[in-house]
Amino acid sequence: MKTIGVIGGMSWESSTEYYRLLNRYAKARLGGHHNARSLMLTVDFAPIEADQRAGDWSALGAKMADAARHLERGGADLVMLATNTMHRVYESIEQAITVPFLHIADPTGSALRSAGIERVGLLGTRYTMEQAFYTGRLLERYALDTLIPNEADRADVHRIIYDELCHGVVDGRSRQAYQRVIEDLKTRGAQAVILGCTEITLLVKPEDSVLPVFDTTALHAQAAVEWAIRPD
Ligand code: GLU
Repeated sequence: MKTIGVIGGMSWESSTEYYRLLNRYAKARLGGHHNARSLMLTVDFAPIEADQRAGDWSALGAKMADAARHLERGGADLVMLATNTMHRVYESIEQAITVPFLHIADPTGSALRSAGIERVGLLGTRYTMEQAFYTGRLLERYALDTLIPNEADRADVHRIIYDELCHGVVDGRSRQAYQRVIEDLKTRGAQAVILGCTEITLLVKPEDSVLPVFDTTALHAQAAVEWAIRPD
């Protein structure tokens, strides 16, 4: 089995989900006492979050490149980044390492195409919803048309991620707020919704949503395990 290197999420709330899912999928695929062979690098989220707010993506690119280099030096055969938002700087990571990088939008885009989806709603941080790095990749590589919530809903979705989910707070009123946003996306023509932030899975389960849910955390972890166990 190859070694999966994970740059944590950036809150540890999502990192724990990745850790759990990587091992769960490895066991489901291989049985017995199998785990996913993995390394996780947890970064200090506070300065990262401040850089995000300041829009200092070049500093963030350098920090992610440094984290990825550490993982490769530690023996990772593949690097993954357990946050959608920070894929804004994925090129800095790819340039810093010689092992493959598993982009989070790719397993998600593939799963949506396989399900025959063409128009999909996207929930995530403001950065992921509003900047082109994510929706652009879904369009160019998977021909997916992405719908994002209106301005007020985007503000709410973003606030709930940073003020609640990244602190491990899972609140029923916030779930209802997300449910309303998903209903609105459905009314506007979305056939499915992407949980495009790796903490949203803590709040919204498939049964909470009027649309089929594509959870980036689960899809990303599953793809990494498939890669790690595939024979060369
Ligand atoms: N984990 C989040 C994401 O998937 C947001 C928190 C962060 O900035 O990393 O976008």
